[in-house]
Amino acid sequence: MIKAPRHLGWGAVNAVMDLLVPRQCAVCGVFVQNAGLCTTCWPNAHFIAAPLCERCGLPFDYDVGADAWCGARVAQSPPFGRARAAMTYDDVSRALILSFKHGDRLGLAPIMASWMRHAGSDLIGDAHGLVPVPLHPRRLRRRRYNQAAVLANTLGATCAIEVQSNALRRTRHTASQNGLGRKGRDRNVRGVIAPTSAVGPQLEGRRLLLIDDVLTTGATVSACTRALLRAGAAQVDVLTLARVI
Ligand SMILES: [Zn+2]
Ligand SMILES: [Zn+2]
Repeated sequence: MIKAPRHLGWGAVNAVMDLLVPRQCAVCGVFVQNAGLCTTCWPNAHFIAAPLCERCGLPFDYDVGADAWCGARVAQSPPFGRARAAMTYDDVSRALILSFKHGDRLGLAPIMASWMRHAGSDLIGDAHGLVPVPLHPRRLRRRRYNQAAVLANTLGATCAIEVQSNALRRTRHTASQNGLGRKGRDRNVRGVIAPTSAVGPQLEGRRLLLIDDVLTTGATVSACTRALLRAGAAQVDVLTLARVI
């Protein structure tokens, strides 16, 4: 069952408008033929490729063999299984994400989802369903759409994989994670993400893939993972558009 994100009506109108009005490079604003980046900004985008940490997806400078873990993951194992991201979080991916999230550029979703599909093909192949990181209803009202749900729905449609849009919910509104360090982020999201009672039973024994726009310290996806595991999920992996290196 593929569920549309809330306010899809508005989102669909926006996506159509994105096709009709001239498109601009998400970074520098020059007009472009296709959604996304102009030919000047394109070479500045950093896509993550192997070799990388089998666990958290951190790229390695040189190949240390298959199934290698980075030092951070050996020292402290996250609750999720594997994490992968399409791009390094830098000026280009930040500009892309900001225009997608706050600039109503929903037309970027297909190209972003295609990059994520490429980076996360193994994880997608193993997953029974996609779960977007939830927004609190108050933030959803202000932003009008959940960028993670739009990415999950776009990926779900192209990969023919079920999307559990309402699997998780935020039990209270929290301050933005921006500007917080690892410990602050952990504290900020602790105990605020829970499985939705209606969907919870459908998660039992499932291998799920969490979807978000950016992985920073992993605090939010870890909180989501714990909630899904509590609901009986067998395995949780994480796929984001970008990640902080
Ligand atoms: Zn540009
Ligand atoms: Zn790692």
